[in-house]
Amino acid sequence: MRESLISRRSLVIGGLGAAALLGVGGTLRAIESVGATATPLRPPGIQSEEHFIGACIRCNRCRGACPRDIVVNCDVEDGIINIRTPKLHFHTKFSESYRRAEGKDQAAVALDPYPSILDATGKGFCDFCMLCAISCPTGALSTSFDPKLEWIGEAVIDSGLCIAFEKLGGCRKCADYCPFDAITINDNRQPVVNSSKCNGCGICENICPSSSYRTYKGSTRRGVNIEATSKERPL
Ligand code: SF4
Ligand code: SF4
Ligand code: SF4
Repeated sequence: MRESLISRRSLVIGGLGAAALLGVGGTLRAIESVGATATPLRPPGIQSEEHFIGACIRCNRCRGACPRDIVVNCDVEDGIINIRTPKLHFHTKFSESYRRAEGKDQAAVALDPYPSILDATGKGFCDFCMLCAISCPTGALSTSFDPKLEWIGEAVIDSGLCIAFEKLGGCRKCADYCPFDAITINDNRQPVVNSSKCNGCGICENICPSSSYRTYKGSTRRGVNIEATSKERPL
């Protein structure tokens, strides 16, 4: 009798424990799903998101190595699985000193804009120096990335925030500053991104004045934002 009482009590306690664990599991899954739809924008050199998540040991070396201060840690908003893995953030510091092709041979820049981004000073954009990948101890970031053929992400215009959509012709800064001619201004005087030319360097997002124009405090998005892209990586 006592035995059956104990076993019945054990069953009840065990059942409650399992229910609690299931509850915790459900909560974790719910938390894990937060932000999971938006893939974080990774530093250059990842082979695939799956490979990266398996190989990154969250050591933070890429963050310390980046001379442009654009590598930051993912937090809970990026999903539990991504916490402390690196993502890119182009608002770090305004690249005051970046001026497209300043003092350079315009014809040479038109032919190959890549050297102009290498020579640019300032912070808050990626010049594909690959110091992040060189510092990575596990190969989560590969140094074989070619910025002329590959990309970090893609610039996407947010018509709800872009000044040119609100005030026609009010701004064209992103188009003027893009070293790769990936943004043009259409007949409505609004910016349009040519995704085949964009490599996700982040200069346009860095330079976009929409936050200060609207005096948004702590705004996380600008008129143009670099987003992870599903466009195919070249073989
Ligand atoms: S390639 Fe250079 S600038 Fe770009 S994220 Fe890596 S360390 Fe920073
Ligand atoms: S810089 Fe920003 S606000 Fe200006 S046109 Fe480009 S996206 Fe719009
Ligand atoms: S991220 Fe912006 S500045 Fe860089 S290539 Fe793309 S459109 Fe041009």
